[in-house]
Amino acid sequence: MDLELGSEYEAFRTEVAAFLRLAWPPKHIQDLPSAVAQFRQAAIARGYLYRGFPKRYGGSEQPADPMRARIIREAFGRVSAPKELEGPGVSMLAPTLLGRGAEWQKERFIGPTLRGEIVWCQGYSEPGAGSDLASLKTRGVLEGDEWVVTGQKLWTTMAHRADFMFALVRTEPEAPKHSGLSYLLIDMKQPGITVRPLKQMTGEREFNEVFLDGVRTPKDWIVGGRGEGWDVSRTTLKHERDTVGGATRTEAMFGRLVELARAAERDGDPALQRDDVRQELARIEAYVLAQRYSSYRQASMELAGAAPGLIGLLNKLNGTLIGHRIANLAQDLIADAGLSMPPVSRAENRGPEKWVNQIMGSLGVAIAGGASNIQRNVIAERGLGLPRDAGDRA
Ligand SMILES: Cc1cc2nc3c(=O)[nH]c(=O)nc-3n(C[C@H](O)[C@H](O)[C@H](O)COP(=O)(O)OP(=O)(O)OC[C@H]3O[C@@H](n4cnc5c(N)ncnc54)[C@H](O)[C@@H]3O)c2cc1C
Repeated sequence: MDLELGSEYEAFRTEVAAFLRLAWPPKHIQDLPSAVAQFRQAAIARGYLYRGFPKRYGGSEQPADPMRARIIREAFGRVSAPKELEGPGVSMLAPTLLGRGAEWQKERFIGPTLRGEIVWCQGYSEPGAGSDLASLKTRGVLEGDEWVVTGQKLWTTMAHRADFMFALVRTEPEAPKHSGLSYLLIDMKQPGITVRPLKQMTGEREFNEVFLDGVRTPKDWIVGGRGEGWDVSRTTLKHERDTVGGATRTEAMFGRLVELARAAERDGDPALQRDDVRQELARIEAYVLAQRYSSYRQASMELAGAAPGLIGLLNKLNGTLIGHRIANLAQDLIADAGLSMPPVSRAENRGPEKWVNQIMGSLGVAIAGGASNIQRNVIAERGLGLPRDAGDRA
């Protein structure tokens, strides 16, 4: 495997670094949010952010190039420059609308979503319908020019702040379970919607139960056709898994673990003399490097126009498994301090306290967007061609 980038990509890396030296951090910041917004606009104009989105929807309309995308991610990460906004609207809904939405939906929703002017939540999971999502029961009935939606969603991240929800709803009750669903866009600010926060073990309240009682949404706020919701939702989930499983995220987390270990060594922590701790650190580094080289391989295959196949399917499972091992070792290193530290919200995350959240959060990331066992089923069935899970044949 040739790990050199080649002169074209080296030149691109130099160009991005030069842009960042001038633009981030800005010389005079009076108001941070507007400095961040201005920086993002400049980065979009240079073709560095929202590369896959056409200019008319607020993107920078660049040809697909996973190598350039990676160079940008790494360079921006190195100087903590603002990247693309996070959240289900940007990472899941906007690409889905781009691929499957009607023209008016793209025009109305993509730009404001990318700029953070509107916030979305993802209304898929329900009580009894998580891994077996296609058995969900929230129903949508067409009455005149409106869908009337009734049911309950669960684990809805950010629903308490969201302006809109993209939801899977059963609109064809007579059809087989996968073909009875439609993908609807719903205004969250209307009567009939009740959002109840759920407290997590970190002390944060990012999740919610959402009750929909005769909620209304216009007939054409449907992405894809009636009964095509399952198919449309697969596009969205692919984006979610890519977001969760990215190699750069794992590398950043490993970098923080190494810092923690170095600090413990400086403090003369006897844990660092333990063979099992040192061995585990080395083992994790090997996994992190293996994930990095797999991501290079995936990028080269995509550049050559080949489907990444099995490698692409491994991303989420590998990323979360490594993240979990990193969190476990960090727990060993912070030791008793982890027990006495109260969980803190991300905004207040400083020093070793952030590991408490990281340790607890690593469990959640392994479940969100399809639990690890489900990933294993997908790898086995789609990647290796093994027989389908008995539960799926219903
Ligand atoms: C951090 C986080 C954020 C989330 N955000 C959202 C959101 O914004 N919107 C949303 O709609 N949902 C969200 N979810 C919900 C998430 O999609 C579900 O939790 C997930 O799909 C699993 O469903 P479940 O919790 O019902 O678990 P279950 O489906 O009940 O699974 C329980 C366990 O059984 C295993 N299992 C189930 N079926 C099989 C099988 N066939 N073979 C082998 N093992 C199996 C699973 O792997 C898991 O370990 C979020 C979850 C988390 C943790």
